[in-house]
Amino acid sequence: MAETSVKDKRIISDKYRASHQDDTSSLAAALDRGLSGTSDTVSDYETALRGYFGNRNAIAISSGGAAITVALAAVGVKAGDEVVLTPTCPLCTVYPVMDMGAKPVFVDTREDGFSVDLEDLKRVVTPKTRAIIEIPMWGMPTQVDELHQAARKAGIPLILDLAHSHGSTLHGRSLSAYGDLSCYSTHERKPLATGEGGFILTDNDDLAKRCRDYSRFGNLNGRDFGLNFKLGALAAALGTSRLKYLDQQLEARRRNAERFLSRLEHPSVRPFTQIPGAKHNNYFLTLRLNFADNRRFIDYLDEHGVPSDIKRYGCRCLYDFPAVAQYRRPCPNGERLLNSMTTIPVHPSLSSDDIDYMVGLVNAYRES
Ligand SMILES: *Cc1c(COP(=O)(O)O)cnc(C)c1O
Repeated sequence: MAETSVKDKRIISDKYRASHQDDTSSLAAALDRGLSGTSDTVSDYETALRGYFGNRNAIAISSGGAAITVALAAVGVKAGDEVVLTPTCPLCTVYPVMDMGAKPVFVDTREDGFSVDLEDLKRVVTPKTRAIIEIPMWGMPTQVDELHQAARKAGIPLILDLAHSHGSTLHGRSLSAYGDLSCYSTHERKPLATGEGGFILTDNDDLAKRCRDYSRFGNLNGRDFGLNFKLGALAAALGTSRLKYLDQQLEARRRNAERFLSRLEHPSVRPFTQIPGAKHNNYFLTLRLNFADNRRFIDYLDEHGVPSDIKRYGCRCLYDFPAVAQYRRPCPNGERLLNSMTTIPVHPSLSSDDIDYMVGLVNAYRES
């Protein structure tokens, strides 16, 4: 194993805490205008979201997980229905499916990335399938255009979990252009951060109305069921002001990722090949590993102060977690994918020296 002298050791944080000079004034203005989820501050945020992402409708929601719940309800998922999703995502995506009493049905990914394998999709769709969820991990665009076509042909709504993918595009359009409903999180760790929070984007006015109604107790009309998933005004105020900095922040991530890749020399480590027409937001830099023991490499980086989302979250296919094991359906591509990759932080607070330190560690690694 490579020798790294202790004096060189750094601790790299994978937590980026956005902070902008107008955060405080935005919060102060919201305090004056009222704090509930029906305040003008929230509708202004929704207007800003439509403007940035280019969708016809935006509905602010209390979290990314709640956004999935609301999207499932809006497309009419009921107890006993089946919802198809890839198993290579966090538990956050599958728990809302289970909470509705629906059955998660796992579909394999493609060999080269996190998109649904369209051949395997044909094997798992049944008359009970009420929704398909695609989860582009770490912001890497997937073949959402092809999946959108396949879903439309099958007459099944496509929900995109874009919790990592603010600013990721395919053929010049936000990934949210390709979902019937696109769900985002604005949790503190996500590219656009409001502490807790989320939103749903859609070009379908009817689905937008259903999302809005469901997330407001069915407007308490006593006819339409719903729950309260509204986003509060303070988080919305931060969202509006921070959206202005999103592109600048993604640009800093891109520069860091490029610096890392331009110095990367290890023959067993290479970047993911992005699909044609894709622009990755660099939420994390993702690397494909080809060691005899990839986990040992990830541990080595961790021991030298470089965290990996793979290690932090114990990433494995969802059916390998006890809470989800009853839905096991082996997905060999997905397993290989998660076992042969890692993530490298490239957020805006990292310095050039931090990037050089990380790539130096990678280049120095030798399998013993
Ligand atoms: C973070 C995350 C969620 C959940 O978002 P919250 O805002 O924390 O509820 C859902 N899906 C994915 C892929 C996530 O990374």
